[in-house]
Amino acid sequence: MTTDDVSPKWSEREIDPCRILSAQSKSLTPVKIDKESAVGYFQGRRGRYKATLESCQCGDFLYTGGPCKHMLRLAMELGVLDKTFESDVAYIPTPKSDACSLSSAVDYVEKLSDEAQILLKEILFKISENSPVCKVRKTEALEEIETQKILKVIPPEGRERRCRVSCAGWCPKGKVQKYLSRKFGMREILSEDGNGHEFVSALDTRLPDDEVTRELIDRGYYAMTERLDVRKEIKPEDWIKDL
Ligand SMILES: [Zn+2]
Repeated sequence: MTTDDVSPKWSEREIDPCRILSAQSKSLTPVKIDKESAVGYFQGRRGRYKATLESCQCGDFLYTGGPCKHMLRLAMELGVLDKTFESDVAYIPTPKSDACSLSSAVDYVEKLSDEAQILLKEILFKISENSPVCKVRKTEALEEIETQKILKVIPPEGRERRCRVSCAGWCPKGKVQKYLSRKFGMREILSEDGNGHEFVSALDTRLPDDEVTRELIDRGYYAMTERLDVRKEIKPEDWIKDL
């Protein structure tokens, strides 16, 4: 197939610059490009899309009918749109539907030593949808987490001494992070005389009544009994927000 055969029907002028920018980003790294048939396969957070230079299965194309970021990225990958782009498979998004239940994820987390669980809590805190990869020094605790396949660990290259780490697709990251924050976190509360602050384990305070707390109860870390309550001076909403 020659470049002429795959030339897109749209011209660069009709393309929204914002779409070009997102098409160039690492998070648009394709799952696969079939150069022979000029087809690209992309993973989005809400689905998988097959794109050609004429059409795409994503909502943006269906709605606007114009070239979407997937079609633009495909054109760049095929060399018919002369733009630079970044690729990194670690940035391919994880579809929400692929994640397992919190309970099954915690089964794996609980196989780890406390040290590894605390490291996992810190790593999950650092990574987000916009920056799904963080750099971590290779330690025994990290290796332990890697054995349970909770994190994807890419060894350092060249002079870099830290590994690049992202969360495995099956792991419900947000909920696991909350679970570990509540299990190991400390809360700052006003001291009894009301004049100072003190730190207490989050497990000694009242936690939100939700799936994450129920998991802590089921595993014997938390009991819904009389607790060091959220003291009047600290609003319960503020308390709960960062847990
Ligand atoms: Zn698309």
